[in-house]
Amino acid sequence: MKAAPEAQKRLLDLAELDTTLDRLAHRRRTLPELAEIDERSKLYARLVTQVIEAETEAGDLAREQAKAESDVDAVRTRAERDQKRLDSGAVTSPRDLASLQSEIASLHKRQGDLEEVVLEIMERREAADTKVTDLIAKRDEVRAELSAAEERRDAALAEIEKEVAEVQGRRTTVAGDIPADLLKLYEKLREQYGVGAAMLRGGRCQGCKVALSIAEMNAIKAAPHDEVLRCEECRRILVRTAESGL
Ligand SMILES: [Zn+2]
Repeated sequence: MKAAPEAQKRLLDLAELDTTLDRLAHRRRTLPELAEIDERSKLYARLVTQVIEAETEAGDLAREQAKAESDVDAVRTRAERDQKRLDSGAVTSPRDLASLQSEIASLHKRQGDLEEVVLEIMERREAADTKVTDLIAKRDEVRAELSAAEERRDAALAEIEKEVAEVQGRRTTVAGDIPADLLKLYEKLREQYGVGAAMLRGGRCQGCKVALSIAEMNAIKAAPHDEVLRCEECRRILVRTAESGL
């Protein structure tokens, strides 16, 4: 392939812009915010589940407490009713009186036991409610951190996109100075090797950093100026400049 030396040199400008684009793409993929968002998202999802579990537990205890309180009420109502009967004087038989008093005593004992149960549930419920409050606070804190990281990521991405657009604009201009067949070869090599063209500087390919042999340098010296050369080592287009050491 043949191309004017000036067009070949433009490949080096193009390669530099492409390297910048690669660097920007790498930065976009490796933003520290991405790892942070990933970590916070997982933690947030875990906390959402934990809040639901804790709320369920607190709800169960609330129902358990209501049930125990209603048991206490039932026993108290029955004891009060018995007490009224006793106080009314309607029961006169000593045996019935003794039986009634014995029932009242046992109802009081039962009420005391049930009140103990209520207190024990209330303590567990208080702990469960505190757990719900703490988990909700933690969940909301993580959500806020997640949102902040997302905002920083979006700002960083917008910044990168702006730079990419600017570099691509310059790239379009440079590509316009390069003949279509040379550009096509460059693009193909770029796809294969990451970089399509490299400068020959001081007898060394700047793409793979390998020094050319004397025989290779002599062959290059003998080659016409518009001949498109390739590095034998890395296959990139080898561009001659004043610094090539020829
Ligand atoms: Zn090379």
